[in-house]
Amino acid sequence: MKKCTSCGIEVVDRYTEFKCPNCGKTEIVRCRSCRVLGTKYVCGNCGWTGP
Ligand SMILES: [Zn+2]
Ligand SMILES: [Zn+2]
Repeated sequence: MKKCTSCGIEVVDRYTEFKCPNCGKTEIVRCRSCRVLGTKYVCGNCGWTGP
């Protein structure tokens, strides 16, 4: 199961997944509500935060 990087809930569908725009090493997963709300995420590798 994948988990949302921002809020930690398990994501099933309607989520987005992308590599960290700063270091490109960490997979960022965002659930639909975090994407809509613009909740910040933090990269576990480089500490990058972004909406
Ligand atoms: Zn979330
Ligand atoms: Zn990063």
